[in-house]
Amino acid sequence: MGRPVSSGSPFPRWLDADPEVARLVTEEYGRQTSTLQLIASENFTSPAVLAATGSVLTNKYSEGYPGSRYYGGNRIIDEVEDLARRRATALFGAEHANVQPHSGANANLAVYHALLEPGDTVLAMRLDHGGHLTHGSPASITSSYWRFVSYGVTPPTGDEDHPGEVIDFDQVRDVAKSEQPKLIVAGSTAYSRTIEAEPFRQIADEVGARLMFDAAHPAGLIAGGVHPNPVGVADVVTFTTHKTLRGPRGGAILTTAELAKKIDSAVFPGLQGGPLEHVIAAKAVAFAEAATPGFRRYVEAVVANAKALAAALRAEGFRLVAGGTDNHLLLVDLRTFDPGLTGKTAQEVLDRYGITCNRNTIPDDPRSPFVTSGLRLGTAAETTAGMGTAEMATVASLIGRALRHRDDVAALEAVQAEVTSLCAAFPPYPDLAGSG
Ligand SMILES: *Cc1c(COP(=O)(O)O)cnc(C)c1O
Repeated sequence: MGRPVSSGSPFPRWLDADPEVARLVTEEYGRQTSTLQLIASENFTSPAVLAATGSVLTNKYSEGYPGSRYYGGNRIIDEVEDLARRRATALFGAEHANVQPHSGANANLAVYHALLEPGDTVLAMRLDHGGHLTHGSPASITSSYWRFVSYGVTPPTGDEDHPGEVIDFDQVRDVAKSEQPKLIVAGSTAYSRTIEAEPFRQIADEVGARLMFDAAHPAGLIAGGVHPNPVGVADVVTFTTHKTLRGPRGGAILTTAELAKKIDSAVFPGLQGGPLEHVIAAKAVAFAEAATPGFRRYVEAVVANAKALAAALRAEGFRLVAGGTDNHLLLVDLRTFDPGLTGKTAQEVLDRYGITCNRNTIPDDPRSPFVTSGLRLGTAAETTAGMGTAEMATVASLIGRALRHRDDVAALEAVQAEVTSLCAAFPPYPDLAGSG
């Protein structure tokens, strides 16, 4: 079989037992570290998070919760999950945490299952204005079980100081009053401005609805103190642990002591079987990392980088939805740059030459969700790798060049060469590279 496939890669020798998978993991490591990762929902977890995720904790069945499991042998696992819960509640100042949801979608489903009866009405953000699939997409099971009504963002104004395309709270209130939802959902997957829980709380109280804040994207920004904390304002806060929070792939729910039991039973046995305790251990690691001053500096840099990227893209001729960003992501309207350029084509061209991002609908997009007129970009991952505002200016100019010369292979290859050398200067795993 020759040389072990993983030598020279930062992965355990044990993977040599399966050279096919080892090769794929090594190739993916190469892709992640040699191309620009600008997908707003992605990040590079720490080696400690990777180690916990790859640990023997995956072997243990632990249906139930600490102190009340269905199987024996959970003394240590109970400590793992308790540690994760304690760190989560301390990090966000919550009364109770459920760290078992396998994903953000599962966390949301569990909240609906806990707080609603089938057929109940939920008010959430329009999918084409930035709502998530689990906020009532026809393609999601959420829309089969519950009745979703929606709010969106205000129209663009063309005024630089008040650009619009912010959550339309008049609409939130009007729809809440006419539809009388039992639950209001705040949160988005493509909204570049700060989302405050208070105005939603006020409207929820006016109509007697519960409030869920879906913090899947900004969880890390909240933990690091650069975005307002919805805990204590919303009844329930759901989040993913793998986006700006920079932990393992997974979900979590924060709630009040009053709702704790309902939420816990909705996750297990309501929705899931045995929890992924190896991932829960990795969540614990990430919660501890997110409580450090270094993480606060990191999220400050994430936001500074997003603002720098936004400014440089505007200089390239792109329009930014909502006029810019307060968080880690930006939504780029391609039409001012080139009315003929679709999100689909832009994503494909950039992907082929080493710039990874996703097409995205912009509010009231004239094109279909498969084509779109927008791109969504995020700075969480490359900020982890160490890039700063100077590199964001470079990234914007590489994007502009690639899209301007999208039919010129030589120009595109020159862009790719610059991408490769930029990425080589900012390795996300400097201590691991070449250590295998
Ligand atoms: C990413 C996201 C989710 C879902 O997370 P998964 O882990 O992919 O299931 C839910 N809500 C919002 C707003 C998101 O952005």
